[in-house]
Amino acid sequence: MSTVVDLSMPTVPRVRRTPQEIADAAPVSGRKVLLAAPRGYCAGVDRAVIAVEKALEHYGAPVYVRKEIVHNKHVVQTLEERGAVFVEETDEVPEGALVVFSAHGVSPAVVQSAHDRNLHTIDATCPLVTKVHREAVRFAKNDYEILLIGHVGHEEVEGTFGEAPEHIQIVNSPEDVDTLEVRDPDKVVWLSQTTLSVDETMETVNRLRAKFPNMIDPPSDDICYATSNRQTAIKEIAPQADLVIVVGSANSSNSVRLKEVALEYGAARAERVDFANQVDESWFEGVATVGVTSGASVPEVLVQQVLDLLAEYGYGSVEEVVTAQEDILFSLPKELRAKLAKDGDTTRGLGGRGTKPSR
Ligand code: SF4
Repeated sequence: MSTVVDLSMPTVPRVRRTPQEIADAAPVSGRKVLLAAPRGYCAGVDRAVIAVEKALEHYGAPVYVRKEIVHNKHVVQTLEERGAVFVEETDEVPEGALVVFSAHGVSPAVVQSAHDRNLHTIDATCPLVTKVHREAVRFAKNDYEILLIGHVGHEEVEGTFGEAPEHIQIVNSPEDVDTLEVRDPDKVVWLSQTTLSVDETMETVNRLRAKFPNMIDPPSDDICYATSNRQTAIKEIAPQADLVIVVGSANSSNSVRLKEVALEYGAARAERVDFANQVDESWFEGVATVGVTSGASVPEVLVQQVLDLLAEYGYGSVEEVVTAQEDILFSLPKELRAKLAKDGDTTRGLGGRGTKPSR
């Protein structure tokens, strides 16, 4: 099935070359694009975006959404145009109205506040974030001190922290470990945000283990498959790239990490853009190979626009570098499934569109 987000194009200015120059553009020998796969939408983002689209379709506008449903400007703008209203907190939502919780998850306090205001809720929290919440609750019940590796202020970290604030300390960076103190060094576990750099997280874990040798590991990786797969793909491309362009928003943790990973693994230069019109012509000076990838909240149409622009500059030869296949699907939030079933809508599982070839 297709979504509105996939079909629409951002209204961004694209004036760079004259029509004749564009028409004359052809791949220039020696210039090429290495296109990362997997890239773009993960199953959790796909599910959250379609949850809002389905809510609009079945309940009608306005549909309130607490925080950005996913961290991507284009997605948010497109949904706003259809009648979604993005708010920071549930107290901005009229009593009794419908509110969707974003893919990043919410703390129990937010759920309670929505309940107190008689809001009708649809929880679009990614199931892989929910898994981390459950781990936090379970370890807190067993009186563990939880060292949550993640970025202070990020919505996902706030949500997980809110599950057991008295048992959790946030570890923002490897350096934080030096000043960290715990109640009982023999009863410590680490968990993490789902969208971190795999390498940096392991550095933090190693430092934690050196300090607390009896610290235990989470039952399974908290950094999700999509974050990890996108980083693996760009690691493969980066050493060959004179320039890496990451499509993704500045507040998208996994997109920002992709740029960092590209530089760390040998890209001569790496830039992050929301839209193709932010690509700067000066970046191409002396560049033969351009690597392209996108964060887990980025619709493929935005990558396509960057590829079109690159073709105009002679980088029309595109080779896809595939390091993994993704076929994960998540079913829609249960509150929505019930409504869809009642209305005869058979949509069930969604996700995993990140690896579709684009050219
Ligand atoms: S990046 Fe990972 S945790 Fe976040 S929504 Fe996607 S699959 Fe879920």
